Amino acid sequence: MDESLWNSRHQIAELLEENGLTLKKRFGQNFLIDPAHREKIVAALAPAPGDHIWEIGPGMGAITHHLLHDDIKVTVFEIDRGLIRLLRKLFGERIRIVEGDFLQTFPEELKKSGMPDRLLGNLPYSTGSVMIGALAEADAFPPVSVFTLQKEVGRRMAASAGSSDYSVFSLVCQLRCKVEKICDIGGSAFFPPPRVVSSTVRMTRKELSPHGRMEDFFILVHDLFASRRKTAANNLKRGRTASKYGWKKIETASSLISLDLKRRGETFSLEETLALYDEIVNETLY
Ligand code: SAM
Repeated sequence: MDESLWNSRHQIAELLEENGLTLKKRFGQNFLIDPAHREKIVAALAPAPGDHIWEIGPGMGAITHHLLHDDIKVTVFEIDRGLIRLLRKLFGERIRIVEGDFLQTFPEELKKSGMPDRLLGNLPYSTGSVMIGALAEADAFPPVSVFTLQKEVGRRMAASAGSSDYSVFSLVCQLRCKVEKICDIGGSAFFPPPRVVSSTVRMTRKELSPHGRMEDFFILVHDLFASRRKTAANNLKRGRTASKYGWKKIETASSLISLDLKRRGETFSLEETLALYDEIVNETLY
């Protein structure tokens, strides 16, 4: 396969024209035409022999083709029917294509073929964080995931407690994974060039991460961040955690772990928030 098939706006325009395709803005189609960045992404993913890799939004296959080795199984999730036709033409049986909206299709795939070893995606700007949230909710982060998304979203993913980027989303991402920025990617690396800067972010699953759905943990986090300027106590008193477990239990739990609820929730580290959650849930067991 010609390695340079996707390396310039002219080649992308040619591929589109030859195949009777048009760009679909609603699907966030910004194709990564810079091969150096594609290589960085794949190096961060570090595929190993025997891996099963999932790719969200392969587009024309610019990153996909770097993954193709005899002993690596690749499953891609693509929503655009025109691009699916092109992917079939370019890669034939070498990849498995799951057609449709990733948000709808991945739970079934997870049931059918289990957790992949690696996951990657140059995600649409508008839905990237929704996809990551859905993966977190389903506890579907494999050992390594590499996402390319809007720089601000990447910053929120990796933010530490107390910083202005620290949010519910930071805790959602960091609950089970270590999050690190790999690189920034300027608009000219894509066609069409987006107005925003992108970042590539790697999520590495923590060895001792909680397994299974954690609805109550996420509810507690939402309560803590309900109003950033209020103390944790004020937010929690009005929140869903208090409705479910009772304010008294929250108070007892916090004093057992010496967590001062007069602090703002946004200053609680992941470890403190998890300790509070564990103590509230444990409290209810006795
Ligand atoms: N990976 C390609 C690249 O880097 O050149 C394309 C990346 S482009 C930013 C996003 C891709 O995701 C497009 O191919 C788009 O059609 C696809 N896409 C958008 N929304 C999707 C969804 N909900 N489910 C699956 N694919 C989606």
